[in-house]
Amino acid sequence: MAETTPPRLAGAQDEVAELLSDLIRIDTTNTGDTSTSAGERTAAEWVACKLADVGIESEIHESERGRASLVARIPGADRSSPALLVHGHLDVVPADPSEWSVHPFSGEERDGYIWGRGAVDMKDMDAMVLALVRDWARTGVQPPRDIVLAFLADEEAGGKLGARWMVDEHPDLFEGCTEAISEVGGFSITVRDDLRLYLVQTAEKGLAWMRLTAQGKPGHGSFVHDDNAVTRLCQAVARLGSARLPTVLTPPMRQFLAEVEDAYGIEIDPDEPEEALARLGSISRMIGAALRNTANPTMVDAGYKANVIPGTASATVDGRFLYGQHEEFERQLAGLIGEGIQREWLVHDSAVETTFDGPLVDQMVAALKAEDDGARPVPFTMSGGTDAKSFQTLGMRCFGFSPLRLPPDLDFASLFHGIDERVPVESLRFGVRVLDRFLRNA
Ligand SMILES: [Zn+2]
Repeated sequence: MAETTPPRLAGAQDEVAELLSDLIRIDTTNTGDTSTSAGERTAAEWVACKLADVGIESEIHESERGRASLVARIPGADRSSPALLVHGHLDVVPADPSEWSVHPFSGEERDGYIWGRGAVDMKDMDAMVLALVRDWARTGVQPPRDIVLAFLADEEAGGKLGARWMVDEHPDLFEGCTEAISEVGGFSITVRDDLRLYLVQTAEKGLAWMRLTAQGKPGHGSFVHDDNAVTRLCQAVARLGSARLPTVLTPPMRQFLAEVEDAYGIEIDPDEPEEALARLGSISRMIGAALRNTANPTMVDAGYKANVIPGTASATVDGRFLYGQHEEFERQLAGLIGEGIQREWLVHDSAVETTFDGPLVDQMVAALKAEDDGARPVPFTMSGGTDAKSFQTLGMRCFGFSPLRLPPDLDFASLFHGIDERVPVESLRFGVRVLDRFLRNA
């Protein structure tokens, strides 16, 4: 008589899509203002229930009313080994239902995708991790070392009331963690049928949001006037906005470009890498920004009447610098801004970088290759920021590893904070299998 063995991780693969849908239905929109944000507490309690269901205890901590983050520790076989942190944020950016094909908080399954705000940023990873640890608990799997799970609030507003607050107020919960995985990385870019690059995030740029203020002589708009604050500010803003700062190849991007050269059989001009990157599709906009420091003007504020020259004018600039480029970036800014403009930091946070090597990386590579024999994992630098900035301060090596094998034609980059954010159910099931292999051996 033939025996049928149930497929590996049947429970986790079956429930991952449903867990994601449920989590999307809990609207956790983070407006950046606690009084108008909601749902983080509900989401954290929902996670706590899903863990309690299978006997995993957790703690919820609130930085402000409703800003709830949850932490649980799954004991490993060897309690003396360093622990691994697996973290994800529960909040999402706002979504306007009138722009979407489905309601952004419906969690609807359609055409093989789960749709909704957070489907790729990053309730997908939250759901994959939950599905996996629930399966483990039901089937008696114990990881080799402690795994600390953190489901965090407030990432989309910079993490001050989420990861940063947890690190400052409850560092003991992360005791022993030397490495961490989370967003943004582990997804595939199809080169050809039998070759997919999997981008693992090993670095992210630093944040330098600044306000520029110019002073001048106020006066009548009809007079001859040679000391105009608006003119002076706009000259500086135009210099910043139109500057293309020099290409700097940091170690992850040097490695990344070498892999792209090899995969596509092309040669990349190190001074003009963008051209070659265009063939990666829309993701090249994210990756191209990791080849240099950038400073994009985003807001301008001056004046109150058409015929009055104001005494001051100000602008906001979103600056991002590569790892190791902090001081060089300051010099570049000073040169472009010029004399007579005052600069103050609104937000300043460090860049993150680690190397793409060691046993943990070996396990990522092995897990991806075991589930996709066309997988070629490569490191890359993220242009944006994540909670890794906070966990780095506790000495952890931080990686973006939320594994997803994606259809070749999916414009993945545009889904982050985008309209019709969605994720293929098959990709979620793949992610669960990869995380299982990885975390069983990591
Ligand atoms: Zn995110």
